[in-house]
Amino acid sequence: MDAKQVLADLQRRFPNEPEYHQAVEEVLGTIEEEYNKHPEFDKVNLIERLCIPDRIYQFRVTWTDDKGNVQTNMGYRIQHNNAIGPYKGGIRFHKSVNLGILKFLAFEQTFKNSLTTLAMGGAKGGSDFSPRGKSSAEVMRFCQAFMLELYRHIGPDCDVPAGDIGVGGREVGYMFGAYKKYCRQFQGVLTGKGLEFGGSLIRPEATGYGTVYFLRAMLKTKGQEIAGKKVLISGSGNVAQYAAEKVLQLGGTVMTMSDSDGYIYDPDGIDRAKLDYIFDLKQVQRGRIKEYVEEYPNAKYVAGAKPWFEKADIALPCATQNELNEEAAKALVANGVIAVAEGANMPTTPDAIKVLQDAKVLYSPGKASNAGGVSVSGLEMAQNSQRLNWTSEEVDAKLLWIMENIHDNCVKYGTEADGYVNYVKGANVAGFMKVAKAMMAQGVF
Ligand code: NDP
Repeated sequence: MDAKQVLADLQRRFPNEPEYHQAVEEVLGTIEEEYNKHPEFDKVNLIERLCIPDRIYQFRVTWTDDKGNVQTNMGYRIQHNNAIGPYKGGIRFHKSVNLGILKFLAFEQTFKNSLTTLAMGGAKGGSDFSPRGKSSAEVMRFCQAFMLELYRHIGPDCDVPAGDIGVGGREVGYMFGAYKKYCRQFQGVLTGKGLEFGGSLIRPEATGYGTVYFLRAMLKTKGQEIAGKKVLISGSGNVAQYAAEKVLQLGGTVMTMSDSDGYIYDPDGIDRAKLDYIFDLKQVQRGRIKEYVEEYPNAKYVAGAKPWFEKADIALPCATQNELNEEAAKALVANGVIAVAEGANMPTTPDAIKVLQDAKVLYSPGKASNAGGVSVSGLEMAQNSQRLNWTSEEVDAKLLWIMENIHDNCVKYGTEADGYVNYVKGANVAGFMKVAKAMMAQGVF
């Protein structure tokens, strides 16, 4: 494989999809050497078959708002690769959603799911519908309309969607209800379900907790721990909230949280009581993070900015893609940050990754450190198949084992001559090899 040539071909055939190109470039750049040790891969053009999704569904979603106006949005499902298990990946509802963003996410998901050791292929879906500012009745009507198309293409052994940005327990519940109504089947077809109808304990916590378990494993390689460290967190959604909770449990101090309008910095740290306020603000009131400073006036709110320029020891980007750029990475390095663990998908730009790696900062890509969410989704599928529920302790212990195992694999495949662990390379090579071997065994499709 000539990685540059493969990328150039994809850019020519699929223009205007920069995030997809960015994700492919990052993976190809790190697996090229390993891939080229296997001439049998190239004989069957394995790399193109792995980069281009198996299939893409694209549809119009029509729904009626509270004023009686008929609205249309676009809906998508990318089924990227099912060599090692049923398609699996979240659904994102956000106004920025387009085909290129979902293709990047589905591509990444394929490697991430492979790393978890569970039997799950890669997929992603979503819509340019944003639940922000909509009533629950509008969100419900939208979810029902979205599922009216999607239900034909998913199933417990075919494709199992989950949540992502803008899709939490409420949206998964509405989509599950619609699926059940259209199919007349009660199946484990979505994960992140409510506990009363097949959800798994620890699923809401899993991505955030898993990110911090991974961070702890990275720090351990340097004889460091989370206790006593100051942590910058971006986002204030599902991943950010539970990453903050686990940091607090392990003795760290959370200094910041954010949303797409700005960030809050609390010089005294966001303690348990303040985090409970944020849980209520975001999960129940569906408010904005700037309201925090009205409750805690010692904190500041900075509009239109990211938290990366504040002084701390650790950064956890937990909001969205490309939210940590080169300038921000330089500020983190200058401020002495020792570790950056991604809770979000692809939040760090390629330039910024280079800055962090050149400075030998511990840096983990989302496909490794945020794999806890999909891992517990895989455990939810296992419990649904068994018609059994495991305790939180059982699920949490499995999550911890999976995160430490992913960390070990990154160290195995990513350790460089000087001992620095390139977690990007480690995660990509480990994730790729399993999928590649499965594809080789299954013939050319
Ligand atoms: P949520 O919708 O719960 O929260 C998203 C948070 O990020 C919100 O605070 C949101 O602010 C902020 N945000 C969204 N878009 C932007 C933007 N363009 N600029 C700045 N801030 C933004 O989503 P999740 O917490 O579930 O997901 C966060 C990230 O983690 C995503 O990258 C997702 O793909 C990834 N992830 C999620 C998993 C999960 O289990 N949920 C699993 C693995 C990865 P606002 O309210 O203003 O939009």
